[in-house]
Amino acid sequence: MKRGEKRPRSARTLAAQAGVRADWAYGAVSAPIYPTAIYRYEEFGKHRGFDYSRAQNPTRGALEEVLAELEQGERAVAFASGMAAVSAAMGLFVPGDRILCSDDLYGGTYRLFEQVLRPLGLSFDYVDMGDPAGIEAAVRAETKALFIETPTNPLMKIADLRGAAAVAKRHGLLTLVDNTFMSPALQRPIPLGADLVIQSATKFLGGHNDLIGGAVIAADPDLGERLLFIQKAVGAVPGAFDCWLLLRGIKTLHLRVARAQETAGLLASFLAEHPFVARVHYPGLDGHPRRDLHMAQADGPGSIISFELRDSAAVPAFLGAPQTVLLAESLGGVESLITHPSTMTHADIPLEEQAAVGLTPALVRLSVGIEDADDLRADLEQALGRASRGRGRSKG
Ligand code: PLP
Repeated sequence: MKRGEKRPRSARTLAAQAGVRADWAYGAVSAPIYPTAIYRYEEFGKHRGFDYSRAQNPTRGALEEVLAELEQGERAVAFASGMAAVSAAMGLFVPGDRILCSDDLYGGTYRLFEQVLRPLGLSFDYVDMGDPAGIEAAVRAETKALFIETPTNPLMKIADLRGAAAVAKRHGLLTLVDNTFMSPALQRPIPLGADLVIQSATKFLGGHNDLIGGAVIAADPDLGERLLFIQKAVGAVPGAFDCWLLLRGIKTLHLRVARAQETAGLLASFLAEHPFVARVHYPGLDGHPRRDLHMAQADGPGSIISFELRDSAAVPAFLGAPQTVLLAESLGGVESLITHPSTMTHADIPLEEQAAVGLTPALVRLSVGIEDADDLRADLEQALGRASRGRGRSKG
């Protein structure tokens, strides 16, 4: 580093100090919450950069600044939910355009694509995003973008971020990556070639299951401007209180993610050895398909595990048994949650399409929180024991 050059600060430091310099009036360390719809003009034709909160809000601005830094993008644009963020990104396309998507996607994204946007004239094709040659072969004249999840929700399939982005560049496509499962603490797709990153901030960024939020982070200023325009024109903005909660959640992002990941590694090994578990999908386990690829593009395997029970008939008994892990539909928070994708988060994907990608009724998804690892292990053990004994009884 040359003299006078500023040493780049680590993402951990940026996150811990999220919003601390946002108050230029009094220097408050906690970013002020501005629950205002409007701003007084100083005189006709002159205001201080803020006129109406759908267009700009200082609390939201502080959040957008830290999100852009964490994802290493040029501009972040915050939304009222992850789905509002995905919809806003889709506002970049016009009828007739095709989007090439990961063949395993969050059910709500699939629902938006197939039930809202397809009738409006966009088309979606689904491919294995871990295979750049397959992606290239699926590109058509109308294809305008790639939409990638990695690891996918819920099967933890790994995409090749660098390979996919290279194909996209060759064909003039945009690369969009939903980075919700990893969060910027573990994976930053923009330096790997992505143009836009999407976050459901409801998950790891918020981290406390107390808000719904989303963001799109753009790699270049032009895309950022286009998204800002969509934010203002469509209007799905988050309120100031939720932006503040997000700033507060982000301060502990790296600590929470590291702790949850450590416990997830222990639980994944425990599950992999359990006789009533048929299969575990977790990129931290030896033998997980494309594990090396994942570790070459992310800083760790994360804290989401999905696994299949030996008998799908035992799923209701298993999901009814945990005392500590909560049966609920989200992920990425301090509380551990368990979900049944086939009937809960991914219920809008037709059963035959679920089966085609390997999403079986025996699959459950666990989002590991920051509770004591032994408590979580004991809870899963008793739930698996109950489910397997219940199966014996119902068959007998
Ligand atoms: N993307 C992924 C990978 C998700 O898991 C979710 C929600 O579960 C979303 C997007 C949508 O986010 P939200 O629920 O904040 O609208």
